[in-house]
Amino acid sequence: LSDRLTATFSALRTKGKLSPADVDGTVREIRKALLDADVALPVVKDFTAAVRERALGDEVNKALNPAQQVVQIVNDELIGILGGQQRRLQFAKNPPTVIMLAGLQGAGKTTLAGKLAQWLKADGHTPLLVACDLQRPNAVQQLQVVAEQAGVAVFAPEPGNGVGDPVRVAKDAVKHAATALHDVVIVDTAGRLGVDAELMKQAGDIRKAIDPDEVLFVIDAMIGQDAVATAKAFQEGVDFTGVVLSKLDGDARGGAALSVASVTGRPIMFASTGEGLGDFEPFYPDRMASRILDLGDILTLIEQAQKAFDEEDARKTAEKFATDSFTLEDFLVQMQQLKQMGSLKGMLGMLPGARGMREQLDNFDERELVRTEAIIQSMTLAERRMPKLLNGSRRLRIAKGSGTTVTEVNALVNRFEQAAKMMKTVAKGGVPQVPGMGPM
Ligand code: GDP
Ligand code: MG
Repeated sequence: LSDRLTATFSALRTKGKLSPADVDGTVREIRKALLDADVALPVVKDFTAAVRERALGDEVNKALNPAQQVVQIVNDELIGILGGQQRRLQFAKNPPTVIMLAGLQGAGKTTLAGKLAQWLKADGHTPLLVACDLQRPNAVQQLQVVAEQAGVAVFAPEPGNGVGDPVRVAKDAVKHAATALHDVVIVDTAGRLGVDAELMKQAGDIRKAIDPDEVLFVIDAMIGQDAVATAKAFQEGVDFTGVVLSKLDGDARGGAALSVASVTGRPIMFASTGEGLGDFEPFYPDRMASRILDLGDILTLIEQAQKAFDEEDARKTAEKFATDSFTLEDFLVQMQQLKQMGSLKGMLGMLPGARGMREQLDNFDERELVRTEAIIQSMTLAERRMPKLLNGSRRLRIAKGSGTTVTEVNALVNRFEQAAKMMKTVAKGGVPQVPGMGPM
């Protein structure tokens, strides 16, 4: 999926303003890429329609780098479909909290039961695993093995006592949990290879009998185009409060995630990423969106956007630096470009890997940009071109005009002079020294 989008966005990157034809071409590529990734057709249609509408709107036209803006829109829309923010488990007001697992055979329910138990236990809970898959010969034993690995208790039917009746086992288990001080009950259920009326009825009956706080639908991320039909069948037959995507460690690139979340409107809550009990994590919609979009490429685009946007502009600026003709006026233009890019912080928020960068950006104050702009705008053209003119009375006038202080005006002029000096060195091919930072 990502290779394709990478190619599409690289094509966009070289353009200035986007024409409707550009947008249509891009949307067509996004559509193909999503279909290739096994996202279901109706989901792809809705998605591309939403992206197209926004991409043709004002936010892109006004953006200095439209390609960047389109990437942002695709990213936003992906996160939206994937549920926006991460959703946490809902705990019952009166314990035990009951969590029921449902899904096809082989989806990863039993493994998930162990993973959830281990994760909850580490958080101070005392989970009880309940064996309600009485269909498969070894299912109960498999749950017992997993429980032992996680170090938690199992509730299983005693031979001869209610064997074959998962509804009764589930009810008994919830009762037992209350007296044995288990604050969370995780009910593993049976699955079939395909959607099956009897199986649905059984899961539905268990649900009715124990009224769980959460019903988690477990789905194999590699299931491809079957994801939509399977999810819909489980929503109708059992209904669920959240989705767990399993086997995300494989080649799946999120097609099933998009389809299921979009078609059912239920949030994806966890991701399973391997056979081990530790291969499990809460699901973060923004990370999945990045995975789908291919992080590396977004980074490149942002870097591009942060640079001069336009090779020609960059060349001119470098020339000005080299010949000492870079003025406060040019500085103002650059500042306005920076502002047009929108919130730098927001854009970098898209990058899960750029942690250190994000921390730096938290210290970045966009209001400072506004004040700087106000100061320069309060200067006459002559002052902008020749900062040497700025004597005390001129600085006072500028401070008043911009609603700032002389100290701030002084600081800006100093910063500008330092930057101009540094850039001159760079433009001439030297290595500037930044105080306290060593060579850049
Ligand atoms: P159930 O039939 O829904 O209970 O599925 P199981 O929990 O028995 O899992 C079926 C198979 O998938 C087992 O071999 C698991 O080890 C494997 N499995 C489960 N979750 C994952 C996962 O996230 N990644 C990988 N690679 N394998 C998994
Ligand atoms: Mg199982």
